[in-house]
Amino acid sequence: MKRSLIKDIARQRIARLLRFADEVVSINPEIARDCVEEALAIAKRCRVRIPRFWRRRICKKCHTLLKPGVNCRVRLRKRRSPHLAVTCLNCGYIARYPYK
Ligand SMILES: [Zn+2]
Repeated sequence: MKRSLIKDIARQRIARLLRFADEVVSINPEIARDCVEEALAIAKRCRVRIPRFWRRRICKKCHTLLKPGVNCRVRLRKRRSPHLAVTCLNCGYIARYPYK
């Protein structure tokens, strides 16, 4: 099988897993985390990148799918360089993303 085809299938599976995780995270966080772990494993195995949109919604520390108002807190910080602070309410990890 062609490598590009394998990567294409991998991307589709990752998207499907993350969409599913997004749907169930407020009902069953454990299943959502399993889906994220699986998506990350596929990404690693098939050497494909997780789209930026999703990458920013996965806690780097505990791999929880972050959903504002459910399991993460999003705050704009203006001190020093302006950034977006996303706090994971599961493990307390704070991800910071600069913005302009
Ligand atoms: Zn976390």
